[in-house]
Amino acid sequence: MTKHPTEEELQNFALGQLPADPKLEAHMHECLACQMAVENYQAIFSSIKSIEQPVFDFDVEQLVLSQLPKSVTLPSRQFIIKTLLLVITVITVVTGILMLMNEVFGQLLDNISLTLLSIILSSTLGIVTYLSSELLNTYRAKMQSLNFY
Ligand SMILES: [Zn+2]
Repeated sequence: MTKHPTEEELQNFALGQLPADPKLEAHMHECLACQMAVENYQAIFSSIKSIEQPVFDFDVEQLVLSQLPKSVTLPSRQFIIKTLLLVITVITVVTGILMLMNEVFGQLLDNISLTLLSIILSSTLGIVTYLSSELLNTYRAKMQSLNFY
């Protein structure tokens, strides 16, 4: 008996394509294991075909698209610039407040509290930057999921 054909050859045979080598074709008519494999592949292929049939008898895409706002656009450069400006404004305001506090309580503050001040400032900056980028990423992901094409 010749050797068993490859899985690919079995799949092609299940799809109705005869193997190039007539020995393989003869083998598949004799070998029970290969016939079983071909039958399994045929069952799989026919079930895939039935899945590919549309589940809904109405146009889902059209229905969904009509529910969406007319202009779905990705965040523009303007949006990114606005967000950056907002972040910079927040940082400036926080820095201003902290500097003012330092001015007012300057005589009470020593080097340790200045270090504390810079820690607070840098963590605020970090948090604001992180939150902004997170917000932007979430927004982008949502827009991406709405983008069908
Ligand atoms: Zn075989």
